[in-house]
Amino acid sequence: MLIDTHCHLYDEAFRPDFDAVLDRARAAGMECCVMPGIDRSCHDALLAVADALPGFAFPCIGLHPTSVGENWREELAFVRDHLVDRRFYAIGEIGLDEYWSKDHLKEQIRVLEEQLSLASETGLPVIIHLREATEDFFRVLEDLRGVSFRGVMHAFSGSYETYRRLLTFADFKFGIGGVVTYKNAGIARALEQMSLDDIVLETDCPWLTPVPYRGKRNEPSYVALVAEKVADIKAVPLEEVGAKTTDNARKLFNL
Ligand SMILES: [Zn+2]
Repeated sequence: MLIDTHCHLYDEAFRPDFDAVLDRARAAGMECCVMPGIDRSCHDALLAVADALPGFAFPCIGLHPTSVGENWREELAFVRDHLVDRRFYAIGEIGLDEYWSKDHLKEQIRVLEEQLSLASETGLPVIIHLREATEDFFRVLEDLRGVSFRGVMHAFSGSYETYRRLLTFADFKFGIGGVVTYKNAGIARALEQMSLDDIVLETDCPWLTPVPYRGKRNEPSYVALVAEKVADIKAVPLEEVGAKTTDNARKLFNL
C-alpha cells in the first residue's frame, strides 16, 4: 500500500471525473493521501474533500509562498485562526519560491518563519515548498536554531549534500515525486545515496506528472509509478519501498 503525501485532490482539475480518479488511486494501491493547503481560496474545497473521504484524504492548512502578496497579514491570520477548527495533519504547504517572483521575498520569509514557529507550538509537521531559494531557506533555518519542528521537503530536487545539510537542522523527510522519472533528473542521482528511511512518496497532482504521462494531468494513482522508479533507483523490491515510505509517512503525519 502507498501513501500520496502531497495530493491536491480538491483541485478543480479532478471535478469532472472525481470518482474515477479515486477508483484508479485505490486500484493502484494508494491507501490514503495528505492534502496540503495553499491559501484561503482553496480552503473550503479542501475541507469538503476531507469530509467526504474521512480516513482517506487528510487535510492540512498553510500559506503557500506564491500566495504571499499585499494581503499576507490577513492570509496568515486565517491560518492561525482556523488551525484550531478541526484536526489538521500538517502546516503546509509553506516555504520560499524565488522562481515565480521575488517581489515579496521579505514577506515570504516572515510568513515562513511565523508558520515554522506555529508548527513548533502545535507540534504539527510542516510541508515545505522550496523553489530556487535554497540559501535563503538555510538562512531561515539558521535564524530559527533552537525552534524545533519536523516536516517534509516536498518535491525535493536538491543534491545529496543539500540533503545531508538539511538533516543537520531538523528531522526532515524528503518527498519524491514524478520528477524522479524525468530524463537526467538530478534527484535520481541524489536518491541513490539517500536512505529509504528519509523518503516519502508524493504526486503533487494535478501537477508534475511522471513519465509516461508527462504533459497530461497528474493524478493520485501515479504514485505507483513513482514507487516503481524509486525501487528501480534504490535497487530494492517494490514492496520494500511501499512498506518503508508508508511507515515514514504515517509517523511523520500521525496517520
Ligand atoms: Zn503542492
